[in-house]
Amino acid sequence: MAGKSEHVAKAVQAAVSTGKRLSIRSGGHSYADFTYNKDVEVIVDLSMMNDIFYDPRRKAFAIESGAQLGHIYETLFRGWGVTLPGGVCPAVGIGGHATGGGHGLLSRQFGNVCDLIEAVEIVVADRPNKVRTVIASREDTGDLKDLWWACCGGGGGSFGVITKFWFRSRGATGSRPAEQLPQPPREVLISTAFAPWQQMDETRFTHLLRNQCQWYVENSDPASPASALCGLLFVQHVSSGGIGMLTQVDASAPNAEKLLEEYLGAVTANTGITPFPFRRLPWMASTVTIDTSNPTVMTNATLRGAVKHAYLRQSFTKEQCAAIYHHMTRPDYANTSPGTAMIQLGAMAGGRMNALAPGDTALPQRRSALVAMFENFWVEAAEDAKHLGWVRDIYGQTFASTGGYPVPGDRYEGCNINAPDLDITNPKFNKSGVPWHTFYFGDNYRRLQRTKARWDPKNVFRHSLSISAH
Ligand SMILES: Cc1cc2nc3c(=O)[nH]c(=O)nc-3n(C[C@H](O)[C@H](O)[C@H](O)COP(=O)(O)OP(=O)(O)OC[C@H]3O[C@@H](n4cnc5c(N)ncnc54)[C@H](O)[C@@H]3O)c2cc1C
Repeated sequence: MAGKSEHVAKAVQAAVSTGKRLSIRSGGHSYADFTYNKDVEVIVDLSMMNDIFYDPRRKAFAIESGAQLGHIYETLFRGWGVTLPGGVCPAVGIGGHATGGGHGLLSRQFGNVCDLIEAVEIVVADRPNKVRTVIASREDTGDLKDLWWACCGGGGGSFGVITKFWFRSRGATGSRPAEQLPQPPREVLISTAFAPWQQMDETRFTHLLRNQCQWYVENSDPASPASALCGLLFVQHVSSGGIGMLTQVDASAPNAEKLLEEYLGAVTANTGITPFPFRRLPWMASTVTIDTSNPTVMTNATLRGAVKHAYLRQSFTKEQCAAIYHHMTRPDYANTSPGTAMIQLGAMAGGRMNALAPGDTALPQRRSALVAMFENFWVEAAEDAKHLGWVRDIYGQTFASTGGYPVPGDRYEGCNINAPDLDITNPKFNKSGVPWHTFYFGDNYRRLQRTKARWDPKNVFRHSLSISAH
């Protein structure tokens, strides 16, 4: 357990000197076996390193890697009235979140978390048997610039141990702390809706999915005033629940109520769904409520699980909706554990997340309209095959026309490394012929490989989907 950067450097040095395999833990919320793995002998645990302060020298907010999102939102907002546009789970750590992209309900308005990384302090092993700590920033050139760039979306655990991040908006001006990061809305409009499966048939369901997709396809431009809105659809298997909708709008956006009304009208058209009346809440109160009332967030960090992700540039086709409907209503499958079998379909793409070019950070997905996250969580190891089988089936059939995976192109833009899927390297499931790294990193993979060769030539920092120099 590290308390400061020097402890991390010492731990990494000891592992390197004795040839022990190490892994890194910040918030411990990885969906894969990157940290807790039978081959790992040393875990560098940063969870006690969670300091947050304004650094006037860099005109940026310094956040130690073990800080969790809930602590970050509270501290930044109560201290300076600013925020990071990160995810909804309060216990996710910034170490893994920021390095893999990081997006949440404010990302259409303010971008991904990795877009705001100004610099990183990182323990590296680039010299023979010698560990050192370097700072790599947006302003650097050459190798250090590559290292900073790779830490902005290239995924955690491949280049070194980041001990501290500095965050600052691109193009920020002025010298007041409040000007250096996005200021969240004072108030938000929150709309929810719920439809039990009894009220759905295949026609209505197809309308719902395609309406939702189409709205984002038409409103994903970075300059769109509709970026003030972010909505998610939660489609649970018939045995796990029903269909939920959550929508948040910045209440100060021009015509915010009209934007919400038009969005809900478009998404629910011909579905029979009537949203509950919306509520107006202070942003912080709403953020805390959504964090703690989301059942997947509350339970899935302690369950067995599998996730599969897809960036969508176009709407699901009718055939894809039929495949999803079939698996969501299959009577021969049930998940009645505290977990859930579901798809989240919505706004973790588009808007300001599309303001950068694919090569500006290591995260290449800059042309998508929305994302689909297929997930399943359960309790008993004895049920692994059944629940893994369901998520493999629904995902594989949804993307059947491209070999079972969302091959980057006109329709899709691959997957997010923060939703890692170990099946992607297995040709039994990924029949596309496209290598795993193209889904996560696209054309950025070559620069990531060069950066890996320069900064971690001995492959000290590795896991099942880490960057390989060769
Ligand atoms: C319940 C839940 C909800 C989620 N919600 C969202 C969401 O709303 N939006 C979203 O974008 N994502 C979300 N995620 C995904 C989350 O962003 C990733 O799982 C993220 O990688 C977790 O980071 P961590 O530090 O908590 O995890 P860890 O397990 O500690 O680390 C994850 C990976 O990052 C590496 N890593 C961690 N710390 C460092 C470091 N300091 N330096 C270098 N490498 C490091 C590790 O080696 C590992 O490979 C969610 C995940 C869960 C489990």
